[in-house]
Amino acid sequence: MSEQAVRSIVIVGGGTAGWMTAAAMAAMLKDQNLSITLIESEAIGTVGVGEATIPHIRNFNARIGLDETEFMARTQATFKLGIEFRDWARLGDSYIHPFGAYGRPVERIGFHHHWLRLRRQGAAADIDAYSLPVVAARLGRFQKPDADPSSLLSTFSYAFQFDAGLYAAFLRSHSEARGVVRREGKINRVVADQQTQRIESVVLESGETVEGDLFIDCSGFRGLLIGEALGTGYEDWREWLPCNRAVAVPCDTVEKSTPYTRATALESGWAWRIPLQHRVGNGYVYSSDHITDEAAAERVVGQLEGPARADPRFLRFTTGRRHRQWVGNCVAIGLSSGFLEPLESTSIHLIQVAITNLIELFPERSFDPADAAEFNRVMDIEYERIRDFLVLHYKATERDDTPFWNHCRAMAVPDSLAEKMELFRERGVVAKYRDGLFLEPSWLAVYFGQRIEPDTYDPLGDRLPTEALGQSMEALRVAVDRAARSMPGHDDFVSRYCAAT
Ligand code: FAD
Repeated sequence: MSEQAVRSIVIVGGGTAGWMTAAAMAAMLKDQNLSITLIESEAIGTVGVGEATIPHIRNFNARIGLDETEFMARTQATFKLGIEFRDWARLGDSYIHPFGAYGRPVERIGFHHHWLRLRRQGAAADIDAYSLPVVAARLGRFQKPDADPSSLLSTFSYAFQFDAGLYAAFLRSHSEARGVVRREGKINRVVADQQTQRIESVVLESGETVEGDLFIDCSGFRGLLIGEALGTGYEDWREWLPCNRAVAVPCDTVEKSTPYTRATALESGWAWRIPLQHRVGNGYVYSSDHITDEAAAERVVGQLEGPARADPRFLRFTTGRRHRQWVGNCVAIGLSSGFLEPLESTSIHLIQVAITNLIELFPERSFDPADAAEFNRVMDIEYERIRDFLVLHYKATERDDTPFWNHCRAMAVPDSLAEKMELFRERGVVAKYRDGLFLEPSWLAVYFGQRIEPDTYDPLGDRLPTEALGQSMEALRVAVDRAARSMPGHDDFVSRYCAAT
């Protein structure tokens, strides 16, 4: 081992970010002979929300050695095939952003171009009918994707809806069994060398000092190390994403659980509904310029489907990100690095991306600034791509029923998004990018779901005879419907596969 090798890691914070980081470091760096210490304070607690995920979490869980069935049973998890968006473009609208594509390209031309052409001739069904995860979700069906890529039943992916507190607890026991040491206590001083931008130690209320080579700031919105100690500023994105508060209220499960999360646009923001095995997570993400806390809580409590399980819990946030997420020997992961509202369930994913990047660029004690620069470059791109995708949901609305929606409809958007929207409007083309999360099917789901209609489609598609194309699309629609109906009910699948213990 090199003289310069990092020997000790100190993780500050034991929320989802802290325990995901600890579990990943313990599993993926197990040959490095590292000491890993995690400090958390029960008196401060965690954010405790964060229940819906995207499929990438399955890779993370597999890489750290979690058994899926055990993980789901221990976290009261259900399956997720996508997100239903209600009332976003117009009141009464509903579409699902699925974890899967619409149809398949024909003659190397994207399915949606053929669909646009046929639909203009009145010869195509709604685009949802060509997506297996959408049809299965609407029917409340679920099974795991088939491993045979030629099967229609392989054309989707899935994620989980789970109790974030139980996930952190599960990761804690997993990490401790692999040598991570947990220290309970509140940090009341951070010793940093401002010249070198290095954290030297943290001091607990008890007077105990904890030193380390690499510090990972998972202290939540506050950013105890990256923000308060190292003074790294924050880029505020409120001009594009006006919501800055949330109120959460879990309730009893009274209906069958759905294999999807729901996001319903309300008067001054939107409400989430996330069904778990033992309860349903609900909340309202809103703009405090447009509604009071009391009115927001009343609105969410008023539409609960079962008895509330707790009093409303209020959270405040500023959408945006740190100017730099890795500074000196300190890397911010989780809410300390920035925040994008949970509309597309991306926060836990961003934690995962940060962990993966950190492990790939794992530093030596000399802390080469090039590693930090590369980490920051990649994280900036990830944040910006997700931001643009979220802004699209607000901008692409026809709603004019409240001041909030009038503001969103009329607001300027980042140039990077304006260009993408323009390209799609003109020619039905989804701008491609190499790095970043959301791919073509996701953009299509939101563009079409929110009524953005391209002026034209790929003219090369006109070479294909209309009748043959119509027949193959109809055959696909029938096959999708049949495949979805062949799946078990979601609740049945959950109770057989991963019933909570
Ligand atoms: P926290 O949970 O705040 O943990 C911070 C930790 O730092 C705690 O352990 C605390 O004790 C410790 N700490 C802080 N200060 C000190 C100190 N001085 N001394 C010692 N310890 C200290 N994400 C999703 O992926 N899907 C979702 O559906 C989703 N929904 C969300 C809904 C809302 C309303 C909000 C606000 C967020 C949501 N998120 C969601 C984001 C998700 O909750 C977070 O990404 C995730 O919980 C990670 O939080 P964290 O660990 O960074 O911070």
